[in-house]
Amino acid sequence: MNNIKHDDPQILALILQEAERIENTIDLVASETHMPKSILEEMGSVLNHKTIEGYPGKRYHAGCEHVDVIENLAIDRMKELFGAEHANVQPHTGSSANFAVYFSVLDIGDKVLAMELSHGGHLTHGHFASMTSKSFSFQHYEVDLETELIDYEALAKKAEEFKPKMIVAGASSYPRLIDYEKFSKIAKSVDAYFFVDMAHIAGLVAAKLIPSPVEYADFVSFTTFKTMMGGRGGVILCKKEYADAVDKAVFPGTQGTTAVSNIAGKATIAKLAQESNFIEVQRKTMTSAKLLAKNLAEKGYRIVGGGTDTHQVVVDVTAKGLSGSQAENTLESIGIITNRNYIPKDTGRRASGLRLGTGPISVRGIEDDYVVQIANIIDKAIMNYENEEVLDGLKKDILSICKEFPVYK
Ligand SMILES: *Cc1c(COP(=O)(O)O)cnc(C)c1O
Repeated sequence: MNNIKHDDPQILALILQEAERIENTIDLVASETHMPKSILEEMGSVLNHKTIEGYPGKRYHAGCEHVDVIENLAIDRMKELFGAEHANVQPHTGSSANFAVYFSVLDIGDKVLAMELSHGGHLTHGHFASMTSKSFSFQHYEVDLETELIDYEALAKKAEEFKPKMIVAGASSYPRLIDYEKFSKIAKSVDAYFFVDMAHIAGLVAAKLIPSPVEYADFVSFTTFKTMMGGRGGVILCKKEYADAVDKAVFPGTQGTTAVSNIAGKATIAKLAQESNFIEVQRKTMTSAKLLAKNLAEKGYRIVGGGTDTHQVVVDVTAKGLSGSQAENTLESIGIITNRNYIPKDTGRRASGLRLGTGPISVRGIEDDYVVQIANIIDKAIMNYENEEVLDGLKKDILSICKEFPVYK
């Protein structure tokens, strides 16, 4: 870091402080992880220099002999890993991948059916403030308010009435499995494209621990930096017949050049994802999520959706007298990083939920008894959110777990 020290000591100090924050806090943000050092190195490498427009072998600038090989490696490895017919590895991130999927086969104003945002859907699934809702005509399906699981009958009925041109499955906050076969049948019955946004769960799918949407969906998008552990970016997988349309929608449709350094990260994670260490981390991620949910439930917390089949545990904290935001702030004060989240019963602007994810703790080797201990600490902090003395003690407990399990050795 000597060069940063020379050119911008102020930024260096902040990088070092951020590294320390990462080491000394427990990250339970469901959309984060700690990526391998190799990928961090790739992202800061000379690969950042090259301007690429177009695709390998068909570029608009000279000097692409090495970066073409990198992009082809990323494409081939992603196809192999997920058993996909086509992969595009250029999307800047999950949202840009989604934009490209929509624009690959839809026209402005076309109808899209996606998941209700407060029930788990993403901004790019037609939120009023997202350009997606300004470009297309969205309606939303919901979960059953009793079970908090997707109501497939209501979904089928809505699809029949609305006649969308595309149906979107996948969510930012939905801890249970999604029945892709059912979705695909409903999409077929109304002659709609079927698009799965597996942003959160790609790592679990890659490790073959939960069902893959790839065989059922026309399009699949995901982010590479959540459970996938591959650094910031997005990927689109699709059936061969849409390959051309997807590639054109990414470039030149919705993006110009993209960072080869991030494409290298995607290539590397698609390689590592075939190895036992990655699969073991994903397995621990799921085991720990179940353990966390079970322990919090035993302490009287209501687990949204009745449990978890993934890395996510969504907790309704209002029964303990706090809002999601108060719980988030309380936990942050003792070194546990989470985020507040809307849950299906929320109608106003106050989020009742706290969304937890076990990806990052699994990467650093925290499991079993330590997960139980973290559940105890979460409960104790929430029950004593105004008691500085108790919170101070818990902060020390968290710090000692962090010291025992460094992120980067
Ligand atoms: C995270 C996420 C995305 C992508 O978000 P970016 O912040 O643009 O990477 C897309 N869809 C879902 C369901 C997500 O959870």
